[in-house]
Amino acid sequence: MSEYSIGVDLGGTNLRAAAIDDQGTMLDKIAGSTHLKAGRDAVVSDIVQAIETLRGRLGPRMAGVGVGVPGFILMDQGVIVGSNNLPEFNHYPIRDEIERRLGAKFILENDANAAALGEKWMGAGREVNDLVLLTLGTGVGGGIITGGRVLHGHVGMAGELGHMTVVPNGNPCGCGNAGCLEKHASATAISSMAKLIGLGGDLTSEDVFNLAEKGDSRARAIFESVGEALGIAIATLINVFNFPLYLLSGGPLPAWDYFAPAMLAEIDRRSFTYRNAPTRVDRATLGNEAGLYGAAYLPFSK
Ligand SMILES: [Zn+2]
Repeated sequence: MSEYSIGVDLGGTNLRAAAIDDQGTMLDKIAGSTHLKAGRDAVVSDIVQAIETLRGRLGPRMAGVGVGVPGFILMDQGVIVGSNNLPEFNHYPIRDEIERRLGAKFILENDANAAALGEKWMGAGREVNDLVLLTLGTGVGGGIITGGRVLHGHVGMAGELGHMTVVPNGNPCGCGNAGCLEKHASATAISSMAKLIGLGGDLTSEDVFNLAEKGDSRARAIFESVGEALGIAIATLINVFNFPLYLLSGGPLPAWDYFAPAMLAEIDRRSFTYRNAPTRVDRATLGNEAGLYGAAYLPFSK
């Protein structure tokens, strides 16, 4: 049997782990809940146990473990900072603690960076070495892959694309800025806009999509607004990077036909590079498996 690694996706509500071999074949997968209320030590034990379970099933030829977590990562120190979902892990030496318990290499990565790496390895980005992924969820995550590797910046905080300003003095954001992309194009933003214009108080982005499908002009206008915000951000990314591929993933993706025309028109209007260089803006293909593939790829890529 070829060597395998384990990818872990640690979210605010779910803990998933998968064993994947070096050819990208998923060998085994387990999913559970993140027991945040039980405290940090319980979560660490859950992570270790998930890894041990897979290692017990697949044997000792494990290359290492990669984990995608929501939040900023200080790569050198192996700590998470500023994660809204995992506040108890702020500055806790999670990498060293888990490495100590496992006796195996454990690599931390931001969840959106891991998803971008997964799309590069086994998803929509297989044919290119340079791409950007935007994940539309509670916020907007971003990952930049260049030369086949995650662009980290000097401490590991690069690729926070959800906090690019797309509306000067727009909606206030928890990061301290106003008008961030994630305040105008996330699933949460779609719900907020639906409430603001009186479409409904508790609509999810999926509900708004269903209304758009039924021809509701206000629901469609929300997606046009999302498309414009995404277009402004992606035009800037294209102008900065001149990469061949920009991918979108996340819950609002089924509404592609409602937001993509406005998005592409905005990109075309704002980017000379887009108009003159072959550039693809497209849907990611791995869905929420992307983070598992990317996390599992980390031990192979070091
Ligand atoms: Zn922000």
